[in-house]
Formats: sequence, C-alpha cells, structure tokens
Amino acid sequence: MRDRLRIAVQKSGRLAEPARALLASCGYAWRETRDHLFCIGETMPIDLLLVRDDDIPGLLADGTCDLGIVGRNVLLERAGECVLAGAPAPFREWRGLGFGACKLALAVPQQWGEAQALALDGLRIATSYPALLTQWLDERGIAAEVVTLSGSVEIAPRLGKADAICDLVSSGATLAANQLRATDVLLESEAVLAGPVAPFGDARAEIAALLLRRFDAVLGLRDSKLLLFQAASCNVPALMALLPDAEQPTVMRVDGTDRVALQAVCRGAVTWQRLEDLKRAGADALLVVPVERMLA
Ligand code: ATP
Ligand code: ZN
Repeated sequence: MRDRLRIAVQKSGRLAEPARALLASCGYAWRETRDHLFCIGETMPIDLLLVRDDDIPGLLADGTCDLGIVGRNVLLERAGECVLAGAPAPFREWRGLGFGACKLALAVPQQWGEAQALALDGLRIATSYPALLTQWLDERGIAAEVVTLSGSVEIAPRLGKADAICDLVSSGATLAANQLRATDVLLESEAVLAGPVAPFGDARAEIAALLLRRFDAVLGLRDSKLLLFQAASCNVPALMALLPDAEQPTVMRVDGTDRVALQAVCRGAVTWQRLEDLKRAGADALLVVPVERMLA
C-alpha cells in the first residue's frame, strides 16, 4: 500500500523542462534533493524520480514508479520488445501531452531514386528502435536486415554500416546534414503520460485521478483565450456567428445604452484576422486575455 504517487521524468534533455512546467501549471510545487535524483512534492502527495528517458518504461514495469512522462517512441519501442518476447507490456499511454513532437521515420540516401527507395528487401537499416522497425517491416512483408545502434544512427550509411536508417526527426536538419531524406513515417510521437495497465487499487488511484483532471484542464486550455468586447445589441447575432468556438458567451447590457458587453472563452486560435472580422461586424474595445485555469 502506497499513499504517495511516484512519477519518473527525464532528468535532463528535451522533455525535462516542459514536463516540469506542465506539472507546475497543475499546482505541483516541489523541492529537489541535493543529489538531484528526486523531487519531493510539497503541494501534492507526488514525488518525481529524475532518470534517463530510456529507463522510464522499465521503472513502470517493475513498479519502482507509478507514472512516467516519456516519448511515445520510447514507450512503444519497449512495449514492442515485450510483445516480441511473448508478453504484453504492463504499461500503456494514458495521455498525449502536446510537447516533444517528433517522427520516427525511415530515411534513405538523397541520391537514391524513387524506385530504389521503395525496394527495401535485402537492405540493412540502422536504428535505435529495432522493435518498432521490425514490426513495421513485418506488417509490410519486407525482408530487410535491422541493424541496432544505440546512437549516431544518421552516420551509419556514410560509415558503410547500413544502407538506410530509421530514426527520430523533427526539423529534418540532421537528415539533410547527412545527405539523407525521409521516405516513410513509422510513428508520430510526442511526450505522453504513461501508466500501468492495471488500476492502482490503493490511495494512489485518487491522486492519479486528481492529476489527470488537472492535466486535462491545462491541456484543454492550451489555445483558449478569454475574449471581451462591446457592441450594439443589434450586431450580436452577426458577431456570434463569427464565434462558433465560444463557450457559453455572456452578454451584459451596458447601463443606459443599447450597447452590450460580451465575454466568451474561445477554444480555437484568436488570430488578428478573426479580431479584424469581429471589428468589421461591429465589435469594439476588443480584449484578448490568456486563460490560466478553468474549473467547469
Ligand atoms: P537521456 O539522457 O534521458 O537518455 P536522450 O538523449 O535519450 O536523453 P533527448 O534527446 O532529450 O533524449 O530526447 C528525449 C525525447 O524527446 C525523445 O525520445 C523524443 O520523444 C523527443 N524528441 C523530440 N524531438 C526530437 C528530436 N529531434 N530528436 C530526438 N528526440 C526528439
Ligand atoms: Zn535516452
């Protein structure tokens, strides 16, 4: 029986800061231990274990940690390893978190023609994601050789260790610098909250549910804005037609006039174009305010 939740997060690297920022926006405050291995929660019964991202699925599998914030690519690769070894993974994705976006892609030398890039049979493909690549090749009946490398995958073709690669890309700059081009996307990845397949069955269930509710509130608000403006009453229908994503707009009469003040939370992007359209339809004194928290 445990009454605190332990979450594994990346110690340093691409997901480290955004993961902490997300937790902070959920009202979580912490104190880091001197050895920088733990964060002790001060506002919620949650502690963080600071680790390498690759260790997170294993920490979930052996119960050292209850939840983890990790790339979908890492989580699915480990899940794929479990399946190849004949057992389903004891962990799964609970939520996509909207940061750390990248793709796991197949890339071939730039000078290859279209036909050559499609004929992968008999080729060697270097990757740090052998389970995901093997699965993808098997599904397509392609008999290529998977060469597992732990790093510097993108230089494998130049070193003669492989013909093509399967690696993470975000901007594509690394591929271009190595005279490679992406041909197929195996996986669209982002940071995810990972947790066990089986329920906790003790006090941790409630803490996890509270955290999830706050995650959902924060993530659901990412693009939301509070829009405030005034208009003549007769223009309200036309203005509302421009705000299909406005949630329960409030319309208040401006005392002693035929004008109204409106306020609405908009879920979609409030662009300059939209503001100009509203202005043309009779809105003025337009104010766009970021929404930090919302409890419906
Ligand atoms: P660690 O020391 O924790 O093992 P790492 O070097 O394996 O760190 P990072 O490079 O920080 O890990 O990447 C962590 C995660 O960030 C990746 O698993 C992936 O989900 C995501 N990511 C986003 N963009 C990229 C990118 N361009 N290249 C690699 N990973 C990316
Ligand atoms: Zn790593």
